[in-house]
Order: sequence, then structure tokens, then C-alpha cells
Amino acid sequence: MSTNKEWNLVASELAKKSENSIRSIWEDSKNGPNPLLKVITLQIGDPTVFGNFKVAPETREALRNALETDTFSYMSCEGPESSREPVAQYVNTNNDKVSSSLDVPRVTSKDIILTSGCSMALEMCFRVFALPGENILLPRPCWGYSTWILGYGIEARYFDLDPMKEWQVDIKHLESMINDKTKAILINNPGNPCGNVYSKEHLLEILEVAERHKLPIISDEVYEFFTFPGVQFYPLATLSKTVPILTCSGLTKRFIMPAARMGWIVINDRNNVLSDIKEGLLNIAGRNFIPNSTLVKALPGILENTPQQFFDDNSKTVSIHALSVFNILKTCPGIVPIMPKGAMYLMAKIELDKFPEIDTCLAFTQRLFHEQSVGVFPGFPCFNFPGFFRIVLTVPEDLIIEACERIKTFCEKYYKADGQSLEA
Ligand SMILES: *Cc1c(COP(=O)(O)O)cnc(C)c1O
Repeated sequence: MSTNKEWNLVASELAKKSENSIRSIWEDSKNGPNPLLKVITLQIGDPTVFGNFKVAPETREALRNALETDTFSYMSCEGPESSREPVAQYVNTNNDKVSSSLDVPRVTSKDIILTSGCSMALEMCFRVFALPGENILLPRPCWGYSTWILGYGIEARYFDLDPMKEWQVDIKHLESMINDKTKAILINNPGNPCGNVYSKEHLLEILEVAERHKLPIISDEVYEFFTFPGVQFYPLATLSKTVPILTCSGLTKRFIMPAARMGWIVINDRNNVLSDIKEGLLNIAGRNFIPNSTLVKALPGILENTPQQFFDDNSKTVSIHALSVFNILKTCPGIVPIMPKGAMYLMAKIELDKFPEIDTCLAFTQRLFHEQSVGVFPGFPCFNFPGFFRIVLTVPEDLIIEACERIKTFCEKYYKADGQSLEA
């Protein structure tokens, strides 16, 4: 038997491959702002950072009531019936709001699994479908799903979204990425980082591909109904009678509660093709246990009592910010902003050939931070989409406007219409 002579401790492959590029860039960007300018970060997708978005009073009340307890027992791993039933009702009520030609069957508490945030819901869905060597199809650009995939040896295969077509899925490209190792397609609508909200027609096109290849869809709807005034959101599961869909959502964005770590999976399975998957999800849930019991107890009150006005006010505010940002960025030389329709983000293209001193979007964002103290995330590596940057729209309006004006100053300094370098 060989014995170690040194403390030779290294992190596992899983740990190494679970790096979250957003987190690393954020940590990194804390170094080196311009000391003469107040730092404005439009980076982290957390609407609570500046205090201008708060939880609804109804949420505070529900949390207070949930704390009136002297028992903290373990709960069943998918969550107690008393909290899953209200989620089922919330889903049914939401689905009913959407005019659909299909008669949408009800989901019941048996179709709900409570999770620790939407991230855990997504991770459980990836793991229940795919083994190492198999793959999940992800949009490009997208949020950091690969953090939850690559560590397990699952392959992430990317299909393109088209910035010139309101970030719609390139359906041909999606279909071309499917191979015999593909286990599921991930759709994020409304989306991060693009702020896309898909039309019914476009969602039907996506469903048609899933149907033809008999692939389930993992639908990340954490921004469900978070759309700008006049824009209709369609829960994917209301549009198909046949494609099995695992919808992942939670309190994080719509209820402005990121740190509550309260999410759920809705198992949409009209034809009982997911029974094995459901069993698998319950097994995986048993490894982790569900969120904190106080949140679980508060959940029914939060879902039932939060008024529509709360959601309307929040999305209206974000839509006003979006328009201000769009209008300023439109006047920045070398920048092409793309107007979002929902969620909390705006993506802008950098015409890198017009900035001869700057090679990449990462270099652009780093220099912007260094000179103007404005933090934005680069499309690459954060969202696997070079040549763009993302702005978080929940920052207070005066700050977001000042930030955009500094971006303009920055662009005017480095923009060269003929694409030639300064030395030329
Ligand atoms: C914020 C976010 C989530 C969920 O985050 P949790 O904090 O884990 O609930 C999921 N998907 C997208 C696209 C997000 O932006």
C-alpha cells in the first residue's frame, strides 16, 4: 500500500469544470476602476442590488407568518403537498391567462418538485436526461448553463440565436446540431442575456423540431410573464399536446427574491412519457433536499397574494430603462444595441473593426471599466457570444443613463470610422 508523503490535495475534475465565467469576470473586474469616477456596475443580474426593486409587502407578510413556528422538521424531498399544490395552481392560473387553441390540461401537485432556486431545477433536469458523453442543446448566446453540465462530463452543444431576428432560434441550425447523443433541448424564454420574448409562431416552430426528433424540452421560464407592456408571453407547455416539457422557474426574478433560493420544476407530461424521468427527478431531489422550510412555508402566501400590479410595475420600470439605454447606445459610434422585449437585459453589438485598438469584447469591457468605471459583461466568455456586451436594466435610471453616457464618451474616444489604427 502506497502512502502519501505530502498533502497532495487537488480539486476534482467536476469542481474544475464547474467554473462560472460570470463570477470569475465579476471578481476580476473589482480591480482597477478609474479612481476619479464612481463605479457603476451593470453586470450582475440581481435586481435587488441598488434597493430600487423590493419584495412585495405580501411577501414580507408571508415570510413573517412562516416564521411563527417552533418546529423545523425535515420535509419530503420534493416539497410538502401544502406548498406544491399552490405552485400547481399558480401555473394553471398563469396558463389560463394565455389564449391558446389547445385545451390546457391542469397540472397537479404531483407534477411539481420544489428546488433550491431555478439553477437547481435546471441542474436536476440536465442530470436526469443525460449521462457523460451525451449532450444537451443550448442556445448561443445563453446564460451559464454549462456550469451545471460540463462538470458531469455532459456535452453542451450550441444552436444559434439570430440577433437580427429578435434573437429567434435559427431553426435549421438547431436541427443540424441534433445527433444520436442528444437528450434534450434547452429553451430560455423570456431570455437572459438577450431579453428575447418569442412569439407563439416561433415557439411552435421549435416544438415542431422537438416533436420530429422526439426530444424533450427543458424550458427555463424563470422570467415568465416578465415582458414589456404589450408583449405577450406564452408558457411553452401551453402550446404542445405531445412534446414533454420540464418547465423550470422560481421566485428569483419575477418576485425579486434571488437569495430566497426558491424554485421549482413543472413536469408537463400529457401522454405519460416522462414517468421514468419523474421517478429519476425524485431520486435526484432526495440527494439534496428542498429549500429552506421557512421559504417553503411562505410560498403559498407569496404566490397567492402578490398582486398583478407588483409585476406590472416592475416590468414597466425595466421597459422604461430599456428604452433609455437603447436610445443612448444608438448614438454611440460603433455600437448597435438590440431592443429587448422582456426580462432585465439588453445586448449591444460592438463593431470591433471600428475600434482598431481593441481586439475583443472582453478587452472592450475591461478598458471601459478601467477608464469609465462602468462594468458590463462581455458576450464572451460570459454568454458564449463574442462581439457583444450585456447591460443589466434594473439599475436605477439616473445611474444607468450616466453609465450609458460614459460608454458613449469611451466609444467616441476609440472609434475610427475607417477602421485604421491610431498609428496609421
Ligand atoms: C437568474 C436566472 C436563473 C435562476 O437563478 P436562481 O437564482 O438559481 O433561481 C435561471 N435562468 C436564467 C436565465 C437566469 O437569468
